[in-house]
Amino acid sequence: MVTSAAAGARVGVLALQGDVREHMTALTTLGAEASLVRRPSELASVDALVLPGGESSVIDKLARAFGLQEPIRDAIAAGLPVYGTCAGLILLADRISGAIEGQETFGGLDVTVRRNAFGGQVESFETDLVAPEIDGGPVHAAFIRAPLIEQVGPLARPLAALPDGGVVAVAQGNVIGTAFHPEVTGDLRFHRMLLERVAARAA
Ligand code: GLN
Repeated sequence: MVTSAAAGARVGVLALQGDVREHMTALTTLGAEASLVRRPSELASVDALVLPGGESSVIDKLARAFGLQEPIRDAIAAGLPVYGTCAGLILLADRISGAIEGQETFGGLDVTVRRNAFGGQVESFETDLVAPEIDGGPVHAAFIRAPLIEQVGPLARPLAALPDGGVVAVAQGNVIGTAFHPEVTGDLRFHRMLLERVAARAA
């Protein structure tokens, strides 16, 4: 499972709230050197960053309280490879709907993301996605109080959709976002995509 793109890659996981451990496992399984990021100095020493699933409004607030919002925005603008899942995707969206009062994002993806798009009734579900660009067979995805990418601007590119066409994964340069949780289902292809961006940037 160890991928050559991972050799020596130092990948931070933003560890303010959310499913940090699952991402640490996915990254170390791929052979990356994974570390927790809670302060700007820790961000400065990584080659890539993962934003976990959890509660986007809480992570946003804590990131501001810990002085991480600006450093993360600057790092994204400077080309740091970043991957966000679910709440992490919301934090990477340039525009969100259903935000709580005062909720902000880091931005980086030219998309509008609707929080909790699948409502209270069917809060969590699993399904196979339409993802022609992803090699290695169907992407079986887990959605947990998930957002939906309801609008994709010209700078972002859809990577995966629900059977009904709803976009649930996008990429824009070095930034990747998925509305689902590959770190929960053990599908490492999106983390590998992040590591490939690290390798490409170093080359
Ligand atoms: N509903 C959460 C939010 O808005 C996201 C849920 C998740 O990350 N699994 O932040």
